[in-house]
Amino acid sequence: MRALMQERQLLISSLIEHAATYHPDTEIVSRTCEGTTVRSSYREIRSRAKQLAKALVAMGVKPGDRVGTLAWNTHRHMELYFAVSGIGAVLHTVNPRLFPEQIEYIVNHAEDKVLFFDITFAGLIGKLRPHLGTVERFVAMTDSAHLPAEAGDCAAYEDVIGAQDDQLDWPQFPETEASSLCYTSGTTGNPKGVLYSHRSTLLHSFTACSTDGLKLSSRDSVLLAVPLFHVNAWGIPYASAMCGAKVVLPGPWLDGKSLFELAAEENCNFSLGVPTVWLGFLKYIEETPGLDLSRIKLERVVIGGSAAPRAIIEKLHHLLGAETLHAWGMSETSPLGTIGNLLPKHRDLPIEEQITIRAKQGRAIYGVELRITNEDGQPLAHDGETSGDLKVRGPWVTAGYFKGEGGEVLDEDGWFATGDVACIDREGYIRLTDRSKDVIKSGGEWISSIDLENAAVAHPAVQEAAVIGLPHPKWQERPLLLVIRKPQAEPEKQEILDFLSDRVAKWWLPDDVVFVDELPHTATGKLQKNKLREQFRDFTFNT
Ligand code: ADP
Repeated sequence: MRALMQERQLLISSLIEHAATYHPDTEIVSRTCEGTTVRSSYREIRSRAKQLAKALVAMGVKPGDRVGTLAWNTHRHMELYFAVSGIGAVLHTVNPRLFPEQIEYIVNHAEDKVLFFDITFAGLIGKLRPHLGTVERFVAMTDSAHLPAEAGDCAAYEDVIGAQDDQLDWPQFPETEASSLCYTSGTTGNPKGVLYSHRSTLLHSFTACSTDGLKLSSRDSVLLAVPLFHVNAWGIPYASAMCGAKVVLPGPWLDGKSLFELAAEENCNFSLGVPTVWLGFLKYIEETPGLDLSRIKLERVVIGGSAAPRAIIEKLHHLLGAETLHAWGMSETSPLGTIGNLLPKHRDLPIEEQITIRAKQGRAIYGVELRITNEDGQPLAHDGETSGDLKVRGPWVTAGYFKGEGGEVLDEDGWFATGDVACIDREGYIRLTDRSKDVIKSGGEWISSIDLENAAVAHPAVQEAAVIGLPHPKWQERPLLLVIRKPQAEPEKQEILDFLSDRVAKWWLPDDVVFVDELPHTATGKLQKNKLREQFRDFTFNT
């Protein structure tokens, strides 16, 4: 029997309508590429998003057309979030940290019709534009006074929206229509596009706002240290509008000092970012004498994208009194897959034990089903010890890639294989032990490169660590530990190994330690282990 409830569609435009109606004066604070700070509000964001929407329609943008952005976290980028999806077009946020050839590939693959860019990328646009055949209009996200010459012929954002009024009723259409497009970082082959819907975005937002989710609410002042081009800034622009949270946008400045000052000035109590961002933030705190830490009011910090080292979780707690919500996810999961909240029974545990739980990759949330399987696809026990291939399914998990790249990605029961190896405990906490391609297979057993890296970065002289498996004549593969030392620290190889021997099984101990000056990262801050394996291909262990 069909139900008798309204079938009002879950559309992104309804988020900004709600925010502007019921939280009109809540601030959106933005550091701009011109070096200014703009204080806007949900009322203004809606008004300008409507002007922009009309401008897009006037440019000939139709429902389903892709509109690209190459931009930092600013109010203008947030306006694009609502304007583009609001008219049924698809917001395609391109990661500007990718190599120019990848950007060219992605924009062409997505067939972007209009490309909005920050003035910091004017030179890049100038070089790329002859190769971006589908792009009909280029818009610099600035005013006419700051129009960059290097980008070639383009319009100024402020002129584009200034030509329109804000009288617009958002169109209604099915919630299953596409709203935004993000390409995965492409550590395997070409980047592939994940195409989100209005429905998946809104359901994901409800989770961000839920108490056992990210607890986002109108009480929050959010320092958005995760870029708007990184999986829709983990869905926060939408979720913030849903609950009326204040949003603070750092522009291109994600270094420790800039984030510290912005968090202090805007009373931010909630923030999100990849581990590298927090490493920089904490490094600034530790290396700057006389900082008044009481200016930082952070209560909750979401860390995801790569494993949050225990040391970061400890420091956020001990230095700032902030709780870490360790989250796991991927572009294909919108990205929230698990979230590291504690259960009531954990509240009275000693803080070190609580941190052990927080260092896991978070816990199952409603909306994302989790399972682990063996190599034959058979489900494995959720006992916290058995590890296997992590699979997910749910209404904000991808069903396939844009234009069918990569073929069929779901198994016959609808599960998506994440490429991660994890264990799941009875309470639904997951612990990632590796990516399937990074796991070290030694003597028929698996060594977790992530566990070894976490153990190594706990050493006070270690700034960053990476572990890769290299071929070994007897054991098939053995771990090699690569370490970046902290400035002025001079640890010996043996000292690091002794330190590790108290923390990991003896047969896990790396066969060698190499000190390096830098480690390669992807555009989203992940270690590029494929590059490291290539770099150390000819390395031989002395054993
Ligand atoms: P992005 O586009 O965010 O770089 P990808 O989809 O390429 O994302 O990467 C997702 C992968 O990042 C996951 O499959 C997992 O390997 C890794 N990852 C995400 N969150 C965590 C985490 N909290 N701990 C460890 N690894 C993580």
